[in-house]
Parts: sequence; structure tokens; C-alpha cells
Amino acid sequence: MIVTIDENSGFCFGVTTAIETAERELQKGQLFCLGDIVHNGQEVERLDKLGLETIDYDDLRTLHNVRVLLRAHGEPPSTYHIAKRNNIEIIDASCPVVLHLQKRIRDTYLQHHGTDAQIVIFGKKGHAEVIGLEGQTNNTAIVIESIHDLDKLNYEHPIYLFSQTTKSVEEFREIVEEIKRRRGERLEEKGEEIVFEYHDTICRNVANRVKKLQDFARSNDVVVFVGGKKSSNAKVLYNHCLEVNSSTVFVSSEADLTPEILQQCHQAERVGICGATSTPKWLMEQLRCSLENDAKRL
Ligand code: SF4
Repeated sequence: MIVTIDENSGFCFGVTTAIETAERELQKGQLFCLGDIVHNGQEVERLDKLGLETIDYDDLRTLHNVRVLLRAHGEPPSTYHIAKRNNIEIIDASCPVVLHLQKRIRDTYLQHHGTDAQIVIFGKKGHAEVIGLEGQTNNTAIVIESIHDLDKLNYEHPIYLFSQTTKSVEEFREIVEEIKRRRGERLEEKGEEIVFEYHDTICRNVANRVKKLQDFARSNDVVVFVGGKKSSNAKVLYNHCLEVNSSTVFVSSEADLTPEILQQCHQAERVGICGATSTPKWLMEQLRCSLENDAKRL
């Protein structure tokens, strides 16, 4: 059994920067992080041991005169307002790609505020990044999680579509085509055309990984995909691996290596380990050691 780690897997630029910022700022004293710094329990635990205390919005409202790190996902304006009110120093590690998207959505909202225009976000309801994006529209944006949510839109009114940065490009394209189709029907019925602007705001740091990841998945007999259970990027990338290699398994840590998975790996010639933009390299290394040590015991 040869075990290989995908060299293109692991933290994206935004997450790497946020973690480096946390490590640097921790050396200066007490530091809180609003929400898990990354959707990976093992990495959160590692930083927790270094002193990074994870808090939620309720905690933020009660804290005063402390330092709080904002993670790569970005935050809605309300977070900055609370921080200002409570004299909290913000260490802003929001990813620049997300900040740029927030600005585009905010500009669109301000431009069409008070009209019947609909700002639509293709994303996961309740995801931290999406909460930050909705906040740019005073929470008036319509969030669609999939093509099945398109009935939520009113095709008599203008539509401005954006995407959460970690969604699938293919799904976004399907949604665009379906909106165009419904808009076309409306044109035929009433002879009126509604405005439909769409912006593919999917981060290429993620999207460009798909092809390389699928090549990697194809070149192995069994693929062990390592990702956090809360990570939407992990789910997307895992499904891309599964599309091309049905012997792909999802694990979050060594503890998830069940006897069935271990047996499946030992029967294979080539086992590939890969992960999401939130999966630390050290965790993939740990899994490799675990698989190899287990093979030696047999
Ligand atoms: S996936 Fe892209 S947008 Fe999201 S944190 Fe990473 S670099 Fe930034």
C-alpha cells in the first residue's frame, strides 16, 4: 500500500493568513476569536491550546475592552457596531476576497435600496460567510441553497445574483440557466423583460482545485478525504472526489478510521489522502502515519 498526500490540498490563502494572524497576535496577550477560526475541530483545538478562546455573538455582546479576531469568513456590519460600543479591539483577518464580495453586494444594495430589486445569494443559510453577506443588505437578501429554492424569487422583479465563495461553479451555472429560462417564459407571457445580473463570485482558490483534486482521486484506488463536519467547502470537494472515484471516504480525524475503512485501504495498492481548504496539512500527515502504522501491524 502506497499512501500519498495531495500536494494541492490544505489551507487556502485566506485561512493561512487568519491562522498566522492568530498565532502572531496571541504573543501579544489575551485574544478571543469570534466563531471557530476554521471549520476544522482539530485545528481549533490546537489554537485553543495556544490560548485562542473561541466566543459566540452572545459572548461578544457582554465583553468589553478586549481583543477579538475576526476569521476569514468575514462579518456583518453589526459585529463592528458591537465592538465599537464595547470598546473591543478588532483584529480583522477577514479574507480580502470575501471583503471584496461584501463590498459588491453592499454597493448593489445601496444602489437599488427602496426598489423591488431582489439581491440573491447562492449559499448556505446560517453559514458565517453568508451571515456576513446578508448583513450588507440589512438582511434583506434572499438566500438560495440550491436550484430547488428558485421558487422563492419573484420573476416580475429585477434579480441580482451573487454566490458564497465556496459554492460549486457548476451548480451556480445551472442556477443562472434556470433563472434565464424562467425569465424567458415571463418575456413570452407578458412581453416584458426583467433585469437579471449575475456575478460568479466563487473563489478560484477553491474552484481551481477541483480539476487537480479529481485527477488525484482518479490516480488512487482509495481516497481518504479529510475535512471538518461543519465545512461546506469540504462537502463540495468531497463530492467532487466521489464523482470520479466511488471508493472515497470522508473522515474528520484518525478516530473516524473504522475497521471497514482500514480494511478497504489495506486491500488497495494506492491510497490518496486529500482535504479541503480548511484541512491542516499536519492532520493529513497524521492520518498517513496512522494508515501506515496500522498496515505494519497486520
Ligand atoms: S476560500 Fe477563497 S475566499 Fe474563502 S477564505 Fe479561502 S481564499 Fe478567502
